[in-house]
Amino acid sequence: NAPLAEVDPEIAEVLQRELDRQRGFLEMIASENFVPVSVLESQGSVLTNKYAEGYPGRRYYGGCEVVDVAEELAIERAKALFGAAFANVQPHSGASANAAVLHAIARPGDTILGLSLDHGGHLTHGMKINFSGRLYDIVAYGVDAETSLVDMDEVRRLAHEHKPKVIIAGWSAYPRQLDFAAFREIADEVGALLWVDMAHFAGLVAAGLHPSPVPHAHVVSSTVHKTIGGPRSGFILSNDAEIAKKINSAVFPGQQGGPLMHVIAAKATAFKLAATDAFKDRQERTLRGARILAERLSRQDVADAGIAVRSGGTDVHLVLVDLRDAAIDGKQAEDLLHEIRITVNRNSVPNDPRPPMTTSGLRIGTPALATRGFGDAEFTEVADVIALALQPGADVPALRERVARLAESFPLYPGLGE
Ligand code: PLP
Repeated sequence: NAPLAEVDPEIAEVLQRELDRQRGFLEMIASENFVPVSVLESQGSVLTNKYAEGYPGRRYYGGCEVVDVAEELAIERAKALFGAAFANVQPHSGASANAAVLHAIARPGDTILGLSLDHGGHLTHGMKINFSGRLYDIVAYGVDAETSLVDMDEVRRLAHEHKPKVIIAGWSAYPRQLDFAAFREIADEVGALLWVDMAHFAGLVAAGLHPSPVPHAHVVSSTVHKTIGGPRSGFILSNDAEIAKKINSAVFPGQQGGPLMHVIAAKATAFKLAATDAFKDRQERTLRGARILAERLSRQDVADAGIAVRSGGTDVHLVLVDLRDAAIDGKQAEDLLHEIRITVNRNSVPNDPRPPMTTSGLRIGTPALATRGFGDAEFTEVADVIALALQPGADVPALRERVARLAESFPLYPGLGE
């Protein structure tokens, strides 16, 4: 039982270097966050040793009486947080939660209607070589080329034309709120089930700062590690008792073996924290930060450089930047921001003239910096740094200096790794 540094110095070094990277860079990948130390504690705990196939009180292994408590807490807290009658907290990830949802409510060959990947949807919503695209007959809706918004008339038209079994509302890159009631109305018109994937905006929903899909959807899936800021994992909610049964059996034994009990314990803690005032304050700063970013990236000098904010702003925790008319492409912009120590990801714009490895867009998010403690003043500063960085002739060393000052002012995991 020697420490990691002794057993495996190479991996110990990876851990330390990654901690240093997270401390030294400003993390603006919209799907990332920093878990609290309490969550790290559970994830690095002896609960990783325990097999617990089945569900609390109905396990296929002995000795589950202690881990049952963790899973029951996670379930009850998820239900209370989102006002749902049922929660399954076992999915290892968002993608496995989504696979379980489709396994539960559709059969291979059924028609599924979802937002296309290159318009902001997720791989699991029907990408060709993902399980979703291989097993199901996918019809995709897109966003309007002018407004960058989902056009509900188009969703209705496609639903009536293709009569899908499932309609998916949810996204990985979309800067506005979806109208869940309208989606449900369309689903009811064609006899489809409505599945909302709230992986990205679940933290905003938990804080009451984004409409909840739970009253409208037949089933809701989510990750825990994006806006919620918990352990990397997924969960599923429903208010429909029949669907709930199918979800449980789709997750186990349909799809997974032993649940990750250390991660489930960490989910329980994340859900507990998500019910606090401090969490709400963090989500408020997340939203304000994204709005500030959208405003500063809409400045005249930025617009003159051919850089545009898609949909003209944001209602959520991210901003989509359109570089089609700019001097740089998505890859160059991502690399340039990396050089000044800001981490973002390039992102296709609808009908992108460039290939997916290059793209003509950026997705920039505020959750991780809000967790780090950023408020309006710091978000204004980082937005101005990005606005300058994306324009021709940026003074990279000066901008890197401004980023370093921000990073130093908000120490990450003080005391850890020293
Ligand atoms: N659903 C949506 C909308 C997502 O954006 C993501 C992750 O990017 C996922 C599901 C998948 O989550 P994971 O990466 O945990 O599999």
